[in-house]
Amino acid sequence: MQTAEQLITDAGLRPTKARLAVLNTLLNSPTALSHTEILAALQGIKEIDRVTVYRVLDWLQENTLIHKISTDDRAWKFQLNMPPSRSYKAAETSNTGLLNSHGHAHLQCQRCGTVLCIHELAAHIPPAIFATYQISHIEINLKGLCLQCQQAVA
Ligand SMILES: [Zn+2]
Ligand SMILES: [Zn+2]
Repeated sequence: MQTAEQLITDAGLRPTKARLAVLNTLLNSPTALSHTEILAALQGIKEIDRVTVYRVLDWLQENTLIHKISTDDRAWKFQLNMPPSRSYKAAETSNTGLLNSHGHAHLQCQRCGTVLCIHELAAHIPPAIFATYQISHIEINLKGLCLQCQQAVA
């Protein structure tokens, strides 16, 4: 398992306290997190306020370390591009960088709003589509009830 610091320095980027804190929060979360949830997790760290978290999330996306996922309640959720604990051959799941970062599926609970990245399920988009259409975003969403919510409504 790589640390947040390794992920940033391996990408040739400069870690700061805020960058490490935000990336660590995502790294330690099995589910995708919203800006609000990340901010709540980092409450009490003096250097970090809501603007800092927005800036860091933008920076992490620009540098393709994380991706954002749209949710039913219109709040974006964020998670790492690839689980660092698993070794994936990028070519296996994608033929473009776009697919690598956005082409996998997301499991969304319609009751509690939990969002999970499913890297095993990726888009297989015919190359002809990329030849004719300028794709800016790919989303595959599976919606339903998570285990906890199934038990809660049973
Ligand atoms: Zn749920
Ligand atoms: Zn994802």
